[in-house]
Amino acid sequence: MEDNKEEIISKNFIEQEIDKDLSEGVYNHVQTRFPPEPNGYLHIGHAKSILLNYGLAKKYGGKFNLRFDDTNPTKEKTEFVESIIEDVKWLGAEFDDRLYFASNYFQEMYDCAVLLIKKGKAFVCDLTADEIREYRGDFKTPGKESPYRNRSVEENLKMFEEMKDGKYKDGEKVLRARIDMSSPNINMRDPVIYRVARMTHHNTGDTWCIYPMYDFAHPIEDAIEHITHSICTLEFEDHRPLYDWVVKECEFENPPRQIEFAKLYLTNVVTGKRYIKKLVEDNIVDGWEDPRLVSIAALRRRGYTPESLRMFVDLVGVSKANSSVDYAMLEYCIREDLKLKRPRMMAILDPIKLVIDNYPEDTTEYLDVANNLENPELGERKVPFGKELYIEREDFMEEPIKKYFRLFPGNEVRLMNAYFVTCTGCEKDENGNVTVVHCTYDPETKSGSGFEGRKVKGTIHWVAALTAQKVECRLYENIVDEEKGKLNEDGSLNLNPNSLTVLKNCYVEPSFEGARAYDSYQFVRNGFFCVDCKDSTPEHLVFNRIVSLKSSFKIGK
Ligand code: ATP
Ligand code: MG
Repeated sequence: MEDNKEEIISKNFIEQEIDKDLSEGVYNHVQTRFPPEPNGYLHIGHAKSILLNYGLAKKYGGKFNLRFDDTNPTKEKTEFVESIIEDVKWLGAEFDDRLYFASNYFQEMYDCAVLLIKKGKAFVCDLTADEIREYRGDFKTPGKESPYRNRSVEENLKMFEEMKDGKYKDGEKVLRARIDMSSPNINMRDPVIYRVARMTHHNTGDTWCIYPMYDFAHPIEDAIEHITHSICTLEFEDHRPLYDWVVKECEFENPPRQIEFAKLYLTNVVTGKRYIKKLVEDNIVDGWEDPRLVSIAALRRRGYTPESLRMFVDLVGVSKANSSVDYAMLEYCIREDLKLKRPRMMAILDPIKLVIDNYPEDTTEYLDVANNLENPELGERKVPFGKELYIEREDFMEEPIKKYFRLFPGNEVRLMNAYFVTCTGCEKDENGNVTVVHCTYDPETKSGSGFEGRKVKGTIHWVAALTAQKVECRLYENIVDEEKGKLNEDGSLNLNPNSLTVLKNCYVEPSFEGARAYDSYQFVRNGFFCVDCKDSTPEHLVFNRIVSLKSSFKIGK
């Protein structure tokens, strides 16, 4: 408010359409929905759709519904319904009491079908599925009319009722819209709108043995809920004329309109349900919420926040053209979200002992450490320091390479938040591996004491051995490597063998007491980490690395 920065108002193409509809009086309010089919877990692409629909409702003072598109009982499960509700809530897309199920509208859909029959706009057809396909024609050939197309209204009404009453076998008869077999749009060539299928539905049980097809059901669901803008992805563009036909012929007042946008694709990850399912079933990943996946549950477990996903979706924007977004952009968003909010802790992932030979035995000194150098509001904490510390193995080199400023015999470095130490040598095991590094410290150089006697080039972090807590850290890489090809020749996924590294001997300072699932932290130099929600216990903390500190992504790159 205080700075008079001019706000740049740019609207995406959907907002422009909504503005137009409102100004022309097509609608006097905005109502959107997210309509998942409960046949799997939601992924990052769905997050985009959820936040887009919710965001539009919010922006225009309208409402947002969560509606399960559960008209196809074969693949749908209650487990998925529950996970989807949890994910939508977690993302912050509030639907209040507007949780709906398409299956609750089966009667209205049936009534719409009867209305179409009465208007001569639908007919019962006896052709087999193969014959229907054959009659449909293709892009070059117009379709052929079904021999059953001209049944009388009475006959159609009777047969459709018989379909409902279970008189026919599965697939024996279908109800088709009577539109135009020569339409250039194949979706308009008398599409099937109801089929006979004896399936137990997760919500309606065995009440129905006929089920509506998606293209018929979806517009009716939208219309019943007074949706104004039915936002979907591009593959439905060709279905829009059918959508419009259904709401018009079923005589809905103020019918909804469909607007399409491009799906979100990410590089180097697996988004297709089919692939994820296979990874889960083959036990290659730890369920749908394995932190290497991009299901919303997996991102949450990995440590992503709703804020970071919202930032990501905003940055990506909405477009009409399919494209792939760099995974690094998602990482950029979580770094941005956490960097000022989370404390910066000391944790050693690949430990080696450092002994300060001139430091008193059995002494623990408590040092004041800022929780976040860029955000003083996070305050300070006390961090214990002593004679024996753990440092990262890579912070010592017996024979330093060029430009190595960390510990090597004779070199002085700063122990972060503590003292300057000078390396005096190391101990090795029989195989020549370094086991202990030795040094001496200069008590004059205590951090915060104002010491200005000399400068050192290297600063390393540490954890006091006496009070250290042993924890497990899991590091992740992308599960597939796009540069090497996502798929093998046989069509299977080309998996990255290094996608998971488990480090069981990590040490953290004692300030993690009370750390709970999903809590996240910055580990000095090693990245952002989050307490695992599945495997971590107070006695054995398990951290997932959300993201490293360095970024390959730059805004405006
Ligand atoms: P998938 O093929 O990944 O399972 P889907 O489209 O079958 O996705 P639905 O449950 O049918 O999943 O979709 C619910 C909503 O989410 C639809 O409106 C759909 O258009 C949208 N959606 C699905 N995938 C994406 C994506 N990658 N980007 C944006 N929106 C998506
Ligand atoms: Mg689907």
